[in-house]
Order: sequence, then C-alpha cells, then structure tokens
Amino acid sequence: MQLPICRTCGVQYGAPRLDCPICLDERQYVGWEGQQWTTLAELRAAGHRGRLDEEGPGVVGVGAAPSIAVGQRALLIRSPSGNVLWDGVGYLDDELGAQIEELGGISAIAVSHPHFYGVMTEWGRAFDAPVYVHEADREWVARPDPLIEYWTGDTHSIAPGMTLINAGTHFAGGTVLHWADDPEGRGALLSTRRFHFALSRLEGGPTPDVFVWVSRENPDVDAALDALLDALGIGREALTFVGDIETGFVDMRGSQGT
Ligand SMILES: [Zn+2]
Repeated sequence: MQLPICRTCGVQYGAPRLDCPICLDERQYVGWEGQQWTTLAELRAAGHRGRLDEEGPGVVGVGAAPSIAVGQRALLIRSPSGNVLWDGVGYLDDELGAQIEELGGISAIAVSHPHFYGVMTEWGRAFDAPVYVHEADREWVARPDPLIEYWTGDTHSIAPGMTLINAGTHFAGGTVLHWADDPEGRGALLSTRRFHFALSRLEGGPTPDVFVWVSRENPDVDAALDALLDALGIGREALTFVGDIETGFVDMRGSQGT
C-alpha cells in the first residue's frame, strides 16, 4: 500500500488520516490550500527523482529534484565503519536506493527533529538500518516501526566517532550529530528548519570560539543564521564575526579559509 505523505512537511504516516499533527503544530504551518497528501509513487510519476550532491570530503547531500515539501535534504556521512544518514527526506525510489547502495549503503539513520522525518521509516526498511529518534520526540513519529530506536539522555553513540547529542533545538528531542572523525574537523552537524550547519570549536585563544559553518546549499546566509539563532533562543549579539559568503575568512585571518 502507498502510505500518505504530507505535501507541506514531507512526512510519511503509517495510515491515512485527515490532518498532519506536525503541520498543525505552531512550529510548522498548514499549506494555503489546506491539508494535501501525496505518495512516493505519485511523486515519482510527477517527475521527482533522487538527487545527490557532493558536499565535501566524506559527505554527500541527499535530496529530491524537483524538491519536495520545504526542500529538506539529508547528509550521507561516509565512514569506514558504515555510512550514517543524518536526517530524513520526503523521497526515496529504487533508483536512488541503488545509488546509495553503490556508495556503501546505510548502517544507521539519525534525525534532528520532526520537520526532517520525511520518509525515514521507508529508508530504514530499504537499508535494514535502525532509525534513531530521541525519546522526547516519540509522540511525533508518524510511522512507528520496530526499527525505530528511541534513545534517552543527553548523548548516544551510534557508530565509532558518531555521537548524537540532545541539544533540545526546536523540539524537546532536538538532536545534533557530533562527528569526531570528520576530515574537515567540522565537529558537529546540525539542522534546523531546512538549513544545515556545521559547528567546530577552535581552542587556543583567550576563550574557545565556536564557529558556525552554513552549508553551501543555503545561499541566504542571513536567513540561515536567523533560523539557527531563533532555534537556540539567542540574538545576533551572540555573533562576534560574520564571514563573507564569497571570501570566507580571507580578510579576517589573512590566509585562505574554506
Ligand atoms: Zn505535514
């Protein structure tokens, strides 16, 4: 059976229903034309396809083209101990599944918060991979399944060097992924709304600095930063420096940054 997917948020439910609780929640919205549903088969028939983009060493962006819902994208983190899919997207078909298989498949899936659930249960089943959701967000899981693993507490290790941190961003179970072996030293990957960020900590100065890197898929850096600060409940005064989208750190540090 083709299970219903909410057109606005891209989340797939385990059974037909009238409303989408994730969209009715004040942190999302219901589309102007009211609640609309679709299915994976319908999306494919309408011309949607999977889309992979190289995001940097060891990281592949996973999404759909044309984009679905609010354009969520996941990140496939390639690691010798098994690939981890960070966050969900509202799309999957056999072709995309085969492309991911060529990249080594998926051994674990973890999601940041309900707006990124997408068709995560479908992904988990396709790759026989556990889907990690923080216990505090259990009520939002739209398609419960035995492969969903609810974790509790502040941190949870899902693979060597990969640790989930309950940061409480946006939702009580809001999660950040810390990736210790990241070749670019990004430190942590974090998503809020439809923006992806990486965080890294620079020691050595009078106080340690935390750098926020906005993923290159977000051309509007200001909108991305506002979404992040809003989720963290802090203002712009918390930022000591905002880099230039073209030149990065060149002007500030006198050496080529990324
Ligand atoms: Zn929805």
